[in-house]
Amino acid sequence: MSKDFIRLRLPALALALLLAACRKEAVAPSPTAQPLPEHLTLGNPSGATADENQPTNYLLSKPQYALSYHRDRGIPNWVSWHLGPEWRGSAARQDDFRPDDTLPAGWYQVQATSYTGSGFDRGHNCPSADRTNTVADNSATFLMTNMMPQAPRNNQQTWANLEDYCRSFLGTGNEVYVICGSYGRGGTGTNGYATTLDQGRVTVPARCWKVVVILPVGTDDANRVSTSTRIIAIDTPNDNGLSTAWGSYRTSVDAIESATGLDLLSAVPAAVQQAIEARTDNGPTS
Ligand code: MN
Ligand code: MN
Repeated sequence: MSKDFIRLRLPALALALLLAACRKEAVAPSPTAQPLPEHLTLGNPSGATADENQPTNYLLSKPQYALSYHRDRGIPNWVSWHLGPEWRGSAARQDDFRPDDTLPAGWYQVQATSYTGSGFDRGHNCPSADRTNTVADNSATFLMTNMMPQAPRNNQQTWANLEDYCRSFLGTGNEVYVICGSYGRGGTGTNGYATTLDQGRVTVPARCWKVVVILPVGTDDANRVSTSTRIIAIDTPNDNGLSTAWGSYRTSVDAIESATGLDLLSAVPAAVQQAIEARTDNGPTS
């Protein structure tokens, strides 16, 4: 083969391949190329969709938060939300715990009373105090699809302390992304150990985890996450004997991914994910 042949034909071959690649992209755009809803800006950790044939990973994408619901556990796998200053205001806590009637027809709707007398709190995943801009937005956090049976000391102290700490970043020019959830089976509330509530319709998780990403207020958030972005990840026992110091439960995002099978922060560039997910935060806790 002459050098001339290579010089003439290789660019033509490259052009043909490029055109083929472009044509393929136009026909079948990658799902990750679609714009993500606000609360899934950093990714959809389980690839959840609003497909009732996927009852263990059913996407509920609400204006106030997004979640993957597990019909047979009666709790979410994960809940994800954006918390910027615009989400906070003066709306009062509505306390209107209620079933979520947006679930597919025929699915059991966990009731406001499903946890009554169990020794576990109706623990918010997306907290009431993160949605105080309007009454409607606050009320949305009281849907039972946003709850998990949480040991009272975990909910009211350990978890609540981290929720407060997350909100504290808003006052210093930051916005926050939070993804949390629970896994495993069996926890210990104020009436002792239990695996389920409401005649088996609600699973008591063994562990409650949370991942927090703190960014200065800005745009194009997934691409702004860098190796110096502060990420706080905790994995706590759902046991009323736990410590109230959330900092003692810090772990890496990688550890939560291994425990849950989720891919967290999947919209963050892969090289950045690899670095930040391996780290365990050791910053201040208040
Ligand atoms: Mn709570
Ligand atoms: Mn990840």
